[in-house]
Amino acid sequence: MQATNPIKFYAFLDRIDTTSKGQSRSPERLRTNFIFDTIPADSFDNGILDGQEAMPLIRVMTTKRMFTEMVANKTSTWEPKEGDWYLIEIQSQEGGPRVWQAKTNHASGEFEEQVGSTRLTEISLLPDGTLKGKSSNARFMKIGKKLRKSYVVHGTKLDTNQNMPQSIKVLSKRRLSAIKALDVGQASMVALFQGNEVVAFYDVGWPLPFNKSSPPSPPDIDSFTLSEDCVVILSHWDYDHYSRARIDERLRNLMWVAPEGIVGPNTHKFIKSLGRNLYVASPKRGFPLNLGCFCFEWANGTDRNNSGLVVHLVIGKSKILLTGDASYDHIAAHLKTDLTALTIPHHASETGHFIASIPPPLKSTEGKAVICAGHNNRYGHPSSTVLTDHETKKWNVEITGDNGTGKRGSRFLYP
Ligand SMILES: [Zn+2]
Repeated sequence: MQATNPIKFYAFLDRIDTTSKGQSRSPERLRTNFIFDTIPADSFDNGILDGQEAMPLIRVMTTKRMFTEMVANKTSTWEPKEGDWYLIEIQSQEGGPRVWQAKTNHASGEFEEQVGSTRLTEISLLPDGTLKGKSSNARFMKIGKKLRKSYVVHGTKLDTNQNMPQSIKVLSKRRLSAIKALDVGQASMVALFQGNEVVAFYDVGWPLPFNKSSPPSPPDIDSFTLSEDCVVILSHWDYDHYSRARIDERLRNLMWVAPEGIVGPNTHKFIKSLGRNLYVASPKRGFPLNLGCFCFEWANGTDRNNSGLVVHLVIGKSKILLTGDASYDHIAAHLKTDLTALTIPHHASETGHFIASIPPPLKSTEGKAVICAGHNNRYGHPSSTVLTDHETKKWNVEITGDNGTGKRGSRFLYP
């Protein structure tokens, strides 16, 4: 194969997705997808943050061990983590981990993955000071610092004073009649109804391009009526939790409350598109916040999954916990007692799962635990261990994807 000129990108490591299949192997040797949110290095060097640039999502398939060896010295104890920035080079040639690019289809807003034969030929960490040696040179330090400063969303105190828009305070008046975890494939979306209208969403996710065969067509949400003052509550800035709004204008026009954090270029561009419809909360003050039947709490971890917004709802005798991707260990104890329903954290992935931390249901015969995991997803979610551990704790487990039962679909958390 004729090698082409390498293309350089600044690449935000948005997710590390390890397949749960093949569990007998050590985690470092499992096939892993590294998903980067990128901007062409030339563009950023010329002062462009997002604009109309082609900013592909880049997926690199390899193992954690291989990835670490490409970035750091073999003897290094350094490990890649979500939120790292890298300078990467991709090229059409033989050898090196395989790369897929997904670019935005401007008509639909959806990412489309392109079949290609490119490989990752070079990768350097744009360090935050944690890796000594190979990529700790001064120029890389400087670029890394600039990227971290450019792609970030800052929050304010979450409270009920004039800081908070009236359009979010309206949640305090809600009388919820139903809560449904929707089948959106390998992604998360929960709709909260008052009568026939959706008055709030907890996440409005859609699958990443390489899981795009997993959602139903059309999804249930297309037939829903949204109330005029419907609010989107976002657990965290992961594509599979917000990106249905990239393709559904109705959702972008709603009011959003979301956590602060560092993000990649495409997420940054999306956040800007929400403009004044977005209210960003900072974890430092104002939690827990009670608004009628809603209680907002901050998951107390440090990575994006485990530092999101968690929602607890009390409707009569029912207590429902919406977890997003935050594991139980990072959720405050006062939200985990006497539950009647919950969403199982992180699509029932094994990461961060311990049977001891699963809260028991209020009544062992009636508790409903729902997994938001896609039909035919590529991760092997849900993990069978996570599923049976919930059953051992007396939860009735339901899955939005079919998991071999042949019956996929949206699931009620309440009633
Ligand atoms: Zn997720």
